[in-house]
This record gives sequence, structure tokens and C-alpha cells, in this order.
Amino acid sequence: MGSEHKIWVDGQLVAWDDATVHVSAHALHYGSSIFEGIRAYGTPRGLAVLGLKEHTRRLFQSARIFRMELPFSEDEVNNAIRETLRANNHPSAYIRPLAIRGAGPLGVDGRNNPINVFILTMEWGDYLGAGAVTQGVDVMVSSWRRIAPDTHPGLAKIGGNYVNSQFIVMEAREHGLVEGIALDINGMVSEGSGENLFLVLDGVIHTPPIASSILSGVTRRFVMQLIKDHGYEVKQETFPREMLYLADELFFTGTAVEVTPIRSVDGYTIGKGARGPITEAIQQDFFAIARGETEDRHGWLTPVHAPEQTPAD
Ligand code: PMP
Repeated sequence: MGSEHKIWVDGQLVAWDDATVHVSAHALHYGSSIFEGIRAYGTPRGLAVLGLKEHTRRLFQSARIFRMELPFSEDEVNNAIRETLRANNHPSAYIRPLAIRGAGPLGVDGRNNPINVFILTMEWGDYLGAGAVTQGVDVMVSSWRRIAPDTHPGLAKIGGNYVNSQFIVMEAREHGLVEGIALDINGMVSEGSGENLFLVLDGVIHTPPIASSILSGVTRRFVMQLIKDHGYEVKQETFPREMLYLADELFFTGTAVEVTPIRSVDGYTIGKGARGPITEAIQQDFFAIARGETEDRHGWLTPVHAPEQTPAD
């Protein structure tokens, strides 16, 4: 990891190695953190963050759900992210804002523990392995169910929720597969350990609804917009596991995975076992916008460096 990089800690940029927490930090014991994963892409006009406002908004929604009062405003966090990226000068970046219930009493109710806010930035390529974005990945339906709506709040990106995600991905990797797809508590398809899911069948695109215990992915929302731009319909309705086996195309979306095709599920080959045409079209559009190669027609990019001043004439 780039020890030459800076980390933003409670309002200040500090050396990578100095961004430490005390062992009594509540979050270490009870998963009481909230976080985001955001990407910044190199564009012809410099580094730009994809979905900055949307991700920061979700961080504050997670804080609200978790009864955490963050000591910064959304604007301050947005500026802090840009400041950290400027300090670290990455050509492209993965950004991890993190807020924890910090050092203090070890009672389970951590509402009186101090809150610490961190912003880490790093370089990070294909999340599911080299070539995943073009070749596709092999996955399984997990034997672990996704968190139930009355156990953990799935719309909040709370650290503790990711214990469930770890079981899903660990099981898949133990089986030699890249990722698991979890069913919700009712047995309907939910999502991957860190990705939303889209399915194409007979020209209609389906994605599990919020009610299927998914995280409301920023990439999911962006991809639903692109799908509409391409003239297709997206159905947000529950669907059963076996629809995965009938799919013409399947793909994951997420900040880390971007748009990644799925080529097999439980040993069933999806389509021709390679990236399908709708997946490819959506992917191309997604990357063209993210990398600034086409117009940012929905206003998803935020430049990291201040836009150049145009001299008044
Ligand atoms: N589901 C889960 C469980 C996730 O962790 C993520 C990654 N944040 C996603 C879906 C995709 O969300 P996004 O597109 O906002 O990264």
C-alpha cells in the first residue's frame, strides 16, 4: 500500500502510517462503522470523481439510519475527498470514506463514543480479477441468505453488514468461484457480496428491487438510467433463482466491479458464455462517461481540480 500517500483524518491530512485507531475503538468490536466506496477516473480534463454527491449522500443516509451524528457536512466531505485526491495525485483512484464509533466505552450501545471520519484513497484495478470486465466471471448462488430487513438495515452501508458479505464471498472462493449471489430471506434473488445484479431475458432487463434486501447501488441507479437511454425497459420486481439459469445475459454493477458480465451461475452457462450485446453496450457507455470520452450528459462527474477559470472578456 502506498505509504507515501496521505489519509484524511477528522479534518487533517496525515501520513498513511499515522492514520491509526485505538484498540478500544467501538467499531473494531461491534462493526459500528459506515463507509462508502467511490471511484475517480482519469479523464481528458483531469481526474474526476464518479457519483461523488450520490455516494456522500448515501454516507449521510447510513449515518442517519445508524443514529450517528457526523461532525462534518456533506459539502465538507465532498471537498475533503477532492482535497485528499489532490494530495495523493493518483492517475485513477478508489476512495474509501469511513466513519467509526471510536475509542471509549465498550458497551454495545456506542452512541456516546466519539466519531472519527477518515478518507483513504488508493489505486485499484479490476475488483474481480484481471480481465473480469471483458471475459466475465463464474459465480454461484450462495448458501448464505442476504441480511433480512428486520435484522440489519440493508440500505445502510454499515461495516457490520459486511460480515454477511464476507461469508458469501468466502464460500464462493472456497468453491473456486469468483463471487456468490445471495437470495433474500424469502428465497428471491438479492445481490452479490458487494454488487447489484442485472438480468436480461428476451430483451427485458430485470434487477431485484430495494425490497429484496439490496444496497441501493449508485452504479445500479446510473446503469438503470443508461438502460433507459438505450431504449430498454428495466423491471424492478422480485424474481426467483431459476431465472438466473434462463437468462440471456447477466451482469454485476458496483463501484468496485463497475459493469462486470457473469458467464456462468452454478455451472449453467449464461448466453454464449461470454459478454452479451446489451451488457457490452451498457458497459461501453458507462466507461465512456466515467472516463470523460463522451459527454457527461447526466452530470455524474465532479472534477478533482478546480475547473479552469475562463477569463472574463
Ligand atoms: N451491494 C453491496 C452489498 C455493496 O457493498 C455494493 C458496493 N457499494 C453494491 C451493492 C454496489 O453499490 P455501488 O454501485 O453504490 O458501489
